Amino acid sequence: MNYNSENRIYLASPHMSKEGYELEYIQEAFDTNWIAPLGANVDGFEKELAAKVGVKNAVALSSGTAAIHLGLKALGVGPGDYVFCQSLTFSATANPIRYEGAVPVFIDSDWTWNLCPKALEKAFEKYISLGKKPKAVIVVHLYGFSADLDPILDICKKYDVPLLEDAAESLGTYYKGKASGTFGDLGVYSFNGNKIITTSGGGMLVSDNEEYIKKAKFWATQARDPAPHYQHSELGYNYRLSNICAGIGRGQLKVLDERVRKKKYIYEYYKEALKDIEEIEMMPVQDYDEPNFWLSSVLLKNNNLKPLDIINALEEENIESRPIWKPMHLQPYYEKHDFITLKESKSVAEQIFQNGLCLPSDTKMTEKDLQRVAQVIKGLLVRVP
Ligand SMILES: *Cc1c(COP(=O)(O)O)cnc(C)c1O
Repeated sequence: MNYNSENRIYLASPHMSKEGYELEYIQEAFDTNWIAPLGANVDGFEKELAAKVGVKNAVALSSGTAAIHLGLKALGVGPGDYVFCQSLTFSATANPIRYEGAVPVFIDSDWTWNLCPKALEKAFEKYISLGKKPKAVIVVHLYGFSADLDPILDICKKYDVPLLEDAAESLGTYYKGKASGTFGDLGVYSFNGNKIITTSGGGMLVSDNEEYIKKAKFWATQARDPAPHYQHSELGYNYRLSNICAGIGRGQLKVLDERVRKKKYIYEYYKEALKDIEEIEMMPVQDYDEPNFWLSSVLLKNNNLKPLDIINALEEENIESRPIWKPMHLQPYYEKHDFITLKESKSVAEQIFQNGLCLPSDTKMTEKDLQRVAQVIKGLLVRVP
């Protein structure tokens, strides 16, 4: 890996505030010697994020994956339980199901690219009739674009099954005016390096239910019972976020809105630049959604041109882009698990995977950078019949 490539355009790289907020919080941690274990930045980050999205409780964790894991534990997911999970996503959505020895059932997307409510209903009908009611449903807001939550919540209510929102990619997104990650019984955010804001690594589990968050905090700090000696009556984890990383998060939170505005600008730039090219379709924005536009993604409708052709052509120009997440039901590790779709032949998730790609959406991109990307893509399409 080349760590010093000057004119490279990245997919989505860390972007610290120009004001240096992050360093101020880190300096404070140094000055007070709260380098570890927890400290004022962890508490502050939890409170500030909870206030920003409008949720009552939050716990800062070492990763979004850890947050999903503890979220599922809080919902009582254990060995042999079934969990319904969107197939078109990153593996970190599904892996915590297996950490608990539970069984994922993957669900297809519709053309919003997110969980298809009709396929979800179909999954419930099948599993209820088998006497295998799932313990939880996981919905994802892919690339920062919200799933259609109302019908999904209606179905979950009807069957009395809790919803966990994997909002790892959608901090700053709003569904019908309410923040993404605050609709489910639990919500998860990620601050991994390429997310819309980053703590270098980290995550947050949020809920209006205080008990869930208390339990998660307990498990995340090695499950120490309140006793003078080291006593444990439950299995614990070392999942808390460090006070230094939380300081970065507090600074980053101040520029979240600015980052969303830039991501939206990038999406709109591509939309305008590629609007005359029939073979390319942007990931659609639904009328209920105000996305954070984390990654601008497109679907190719020309069978002669494949996503890899564009990815390779961009790479030749030192521009990073990437394929759509390979659906979980197609992963070697997960292919033996059930997959519910309305399609007779190729699922929507698979079609999006085969024909889509994520364009560079780095918030440090200039107008010139965006032009460079658009030019490479247009150049390719002119050559393809
Ligand atoms: C990034 C991501 C995660 C995992 O978050 P980490 O902080 O990297 O552990 C989970 N789900 C989705 C959809 C993601 O994009």
